[in-house]
Amino acid sequence: MNTVDNLVERFRSKKLKITPQRLGIFRILESNLQHPSAEDIFSKIKKIYPTVSFTTVYKTLDILEKMGEILKITIDEERKHYDPNTNTHHHIICLMCNKISDIEEEHIRPKLPRGILNEFTPSSYHISFYGTCKKCHKNK
Ligand SMILES: [Zn+2]
Ligand SMILES: [Zn+2]
Repeated sequence: MNTVDNLVERFRSKKLKITPQRLGIFRILESNLQHPSAEDIFSKIKKIYPTVSFTTVYKTLDILEKMGEILKITIDEERKHYDPNTNTHHHIICLMCNKISDIEEEHIRPKLPRGILNEFTPSSYHISFYGTCKKCHKNK
């Protein structure tokens, strides 16, 4: 994700409104390593701007995602999380508590068979491992 100042400029150049609420959302996302959900961001921004609506949060996240500023990590229809780190990296996801951790790209470098590479040039990829974290495993 770009810095907050750069995001403001990108939004302005696209004639998108910059509101204090939007700025607040940018700040929450900036260098956030927690992979927050829209609900997580909503509950944080609500503490600063109690009148903010969930739709505002969701719309802003949607715009940022379409701009390529953040990644959307979809666990399932109900569970969507956001990651301001758009460099190639991968995730391990606990299906019980939704904790999402990063795996650096250097640890996983998948190789596509030559036959596929002749037909197709990949521009990006993302691998998710699903399972149970240590904490949830103990409480099972
Ligand atoms: Zn867990
Ligand atoms: Zn990540």
